[in-house]
Amino acid sequence: MMLKLESFDYAAIILLVVLLFSLFYRRMTKGIANHMFILVLATMVFATLFDIWSIFLDNSLTADKTSLYIAHSGYLFMHNLTTPAYVLYVISLTDTWHKLKKSVLQQILLIAPISIVFILLVVNTMTDSLFYVKNSIYHRGTLFPLLYVIAGFYMALGLFYMFRYRKLLTSTKIFAISAIVPLNLIAIVIQIFYPNTSVEMFAGALSLLFVSMTAQRPEDLIDPFTGLGNYGYYADNVKRSFNSDKNITIVMLNISNFAALQAMISYESLSELLKSISLEIENADKEVKGHADNYYLDRGRFRMVFFGRHREKAAPAAEMLNKALQSNLYINDLSVSVNQCLCVVRCPEDINDFKALSAFGASFNEQHAVPGKVLLAEELFKNNRFDMLNNIDGIIDNALKNNKFKVYYQPIFSVEQNKFTSAEALLRLIDDKYGFIPPDVFIGAAEKSGAIHKIGDFVLEEVCRFIASDRFKELGLDYIEINLSVAQCMHGDLADKVLETLTKYNIPSDKINLEITETAASYAQNIMKSNLDKLSSAGVSFSLDDYGTGYSNMRRVIQLPLKIVKLDKSFVDEQNNPKMWIVLQNTVKMLKDMDMEIVVEGIETQHMAEQFAALNCDFIQGYYYSKPIPEDDFVEFISEYEGSKVV
Ligand code: C2E
Ligand code: CA
Ligand code: CA
Repeated sequence: MMLKLESFDYAAIILLVVLLFSLFYRRMTKGIANHMFILVLATMVFATLFDIWSIFLDNSLTADKTSLYIAHSGYLFMHNLTTPAYVLYVISLTDTWHKLKKSVLQQILLIAPISIVFILLVVNTMTDSLFYVKNSIYHRGTLFPLLYVIAGFYMALGLFYMFRYRKLLTSTKIFAISAIVPLNLIAIVIQIFYPNTSVEMFAGALSLLFVSMTAQRPEDLIDPFTGLGNYGYYADNVKRSFNSDKNITIVMLNISNFAALQAMISYESLSELLKSISLEIENADKEVKGHADNYYLDRGRFRMVFFGRHREKAAPAAEMLNKALQSNLYINDLSVSVNQCLCVVRCPEDINDFKALSAFGASFNEQHAVPGKVLLAEELFKNNRFDMLNNIDGIIDNALKNNKFKVYYQPIFSVEQNKFTSAEALLRLIDDKYGFIPPDVFIGAAEKSGAIHKIGDFVLEEVCRFIASDRFKELGLDYIEINLSVAQCMHGDLADKVLETLTKYNIPSDKINLEITETAASYAQNIMKSNLDKLSSAGVSFSLDDYGTGYSNMRRVIQLPLKIVKLDKSFVDEQNNPKMWIVLQNTVKMLKDMDMEIVVEGIETQHMAEQFAALNCDFIQGYYYSKPIPEDDFVEFISEYEGSKVV
């Protein structure tokens, strides 16, 4: 049986429509590359429809001339339009639109040839140069080969673009883009020799299917929970922006309590939560008409990327998102509060390479967080702060070698004895170039690099040396509190090291108190437990630091050999909230019933000091009495104030 002429066209239509559907089904409708791919598909669909109509008219002997002209012109125009559309698709894959916008030559090269086709088709009824209809039969005109030349030109232009910006493309994409050419060439050759088989559209559709299966794979690009772009996609696009000098502004959203949420709520609720945050992001984007590309990276980190004239909308979008996330989100009847941290980063003005951008994005919420306030990277990086963060490992090494670390002491007041009975040792780093670097910054970095062990040893030595000195003995203090970081608690020889140092300076083990945090208590519990047990049976006491931040695992807390619990400053900050006051009263009562001593931290006013003293807290620490101060000042401070009333 003979194939009907238009059979290939029907096959092409089916293929193209399925492809279009699959794009929508696979959520590949956002972003300029997807738009351009849809444009190519759409021109192909129209071209094929016109082709089917033309063939139908050609075969019906009664067709009128006008219809024949419209059908054939429509086909030729749409078919020729597929190639420039394809070039636009390649340009969007390389993400070099901004370059096209600047180059008039490139714009002319893109627009002129297809305009020629258009003009030739319009005047064709008079000139018959492209085709003509004689006795209801279609014939090619003398200029018809020009259409092939123009199509060939666009394909070459696409390849040229691809080659020129090959560094901005993955090898899969290069392969997919180039594979289109031989497929279409074969079809054109077939069509030249057998003009009656309309195989061209089918070949075109096949090659788009190929592109869709390779270059346009959403499975690799879309995060399944949120429907936003994933980390790989983000990294790809942002890196490409850096390489092609495209300026972008990124809104970074990190959920600081993500780990806690993950531990607390079910898997289903967590995915719901991520989904509703992504909806808030898309809302904010819509409100400001920002046309941002939105991504979910991992572990509660979202990104919005604005470009071109939309860059200015990044900050308003961030504000809007911040506001939306301030109130609790309702997830399956569960009210969830997220600790959102937002930062607006301009690239390349604030950060100009991808590695630095990732490092910043991974930790800005820990290092700079001002809860509830949208940060501007620009502000943060004044004073070379960012430069400093990049060099922090070097700075720490240098500080260890050149004695740049100093231990400061913050006095702790005993309510019962009405005098200062202890102090907390707090480390300070003053760098020659960067000045004062807060411990929150260098402790975190040192934990990552491992330098924390040397730093910890230094603090321990310093404090013990001070305790062993005569002038310390004259102060009559009971003990000094020393902070232990998570990494130190997890280290197998912590206990031995502490006991050795105590022996070396010949000081009783009850002269130091070690502060640990709940975070530490949730890691490597075996090593941690054996460290704590060993030290506490040798007479060293422990405080639980930052109590009330995050979530409390009571079971774990009870199992630790604790003498003191330190109520975090966040409790103190909320003491005007009547409900919080009830929580505080009961917390204090519960801890006292468990025979714990209580230190309240972050007391800044006399009023607060009186309130917490009345609440039955044993010790008070905070700026109200003194900031952490150097050893000499501390000795002077305690000697002067001894015996005088402070609360
Ligand atoms: P932390 O252990 O919770 O220390 C208390 C922090 O609160 C100190 O910040 C202290 O200066 C600050 N502070 C005390 N009173 C007040 C107040 O009335 N108002 C306000 N706003 N703040 C007050 P600092 O010294 O910046 O230390 C930050 C954190 O760095 C510490 O938090 C601790 O986790 C860590 N850190 C400091 N020194 C060391 C150390 O030697 N080893 C380890 N592993 N961590 C340390
Ligand atoms: Ca502490
Ligand atoms: Ca604390």
